[in-house]
Amino acid sequence: MKYLEEYFIKRFLKNLPYDPISILNENKQTDRSLLTGYKNIVTTIQQVSQKSLVRENHQGFYFAFADDKRLNGTATIYKNTDIIVVNYGGITKIHQYFRAACNSSLFPWVTNRQLLCDFLSGLAFDFLISHEFGHHYNGHLLFRKPQKANLISRMDMLGTTTIPYESALERKAIEMDADSYASTNTFLKQLRNPTVLKMGIENGLFRDQYDQLRYWIFATHSFFLLFAAQMVDINSIHYENYYNRTLRQAHNLDISANLIDIFSPHLKTNFNQIMDEIFQLTETTFHNIHNSDSDERIREVLSVTDKRVIEHIKEVDNYYYKVLKPKLIPFARHKLA
Ligand SMILES: [Zn+2]
Repeated sequence: MKYLEEYFIKRFLKNLPYDPISILNENKQTDRSLLTGYKNIVTTIQQVSQKSLVRENHQGFYFAFADDKRLNGTATIYKNTDIIVVNYGGITKIHQYFRAACNSSLFPWVTNRQLLCDFLSGLAFDFLISHEFGHHYNGHLLFRKPQKANLISRMDMLGTTTIPYESALERKAIEMDADSYASTNTFLKQLRNPTVLKMGIENGLFRDQYDQLRYWIFATHSFFLLFAAQMVDINSIHYENYYNRTLRQAHNLDISANLIDIFSPHLKTNFNQIMDEIFQLTETTFHNIHNSDSDERIREVLSVTDKRVIEHIKEVDNYYYKVLKPKLIPFARHKLA
């Protein structure tokens, strides 16, 4: 029965009428251990998320890798199954990037560089997957589930979507909500997981909890930079859907600072300083590896503190609480922000 169901899901994904997803034939991939490792991370995230449900989960779950080089993740629904598809090429991109970063003098106190690379890659992947889980658990697909069976709800990070959004503001509020879910859950995992902290200290990865938080900031912001950098074909971006990476970064920093305030106020003073320090380090490291156009980057970085950006975040935020949240509540399986 399970195989038959899988067969239909795969057929469904292959037959999406736009930008078809070609599911990776995992048997043909040489790097099996990488695939298995990341599949296990997805299973763990899914199992952990079941513990904090506010509504019974009637949806099944299916995960697959797509045979695509771009860094992207997709959330879609087939009948009563939540589907997440992640591009395999995106995972190797994340790995290559952090390997290059760890070959430099980044976080020089860590002697096991491979361990550092794997840890940072894992954090970035966790963010990507958690964002897609956020779309499912916060009801983003169910609340817009088309009545007609031949219409398919689907959203991905590159902004190609078939969900009939009411406005660009709605699309941005939805993406911001998925980011909130990802930032909150991945940050709390670092902030409130004594086992990871203990193990990290034992094997020389962290000197203390601040290092753990340093890596989270570095990994999530590197992810935003990596993701934004591949949007080379500016013509293919749906501008009304495009969620500026500087907005995403500002939002991510804001959430982590709030969580520190609530859960670990004793870490607050140093954390603010660490946030600035690592944010700069992320930018410099990215620039050194990617040789990206510096003026463009500097403008983007400055825009995080630009008044217009902050105003825009407020506008999206306001739309979320007044318009979107009431619509999502009946469909959300997790507590909404
Ligand atoms: Zn998304």
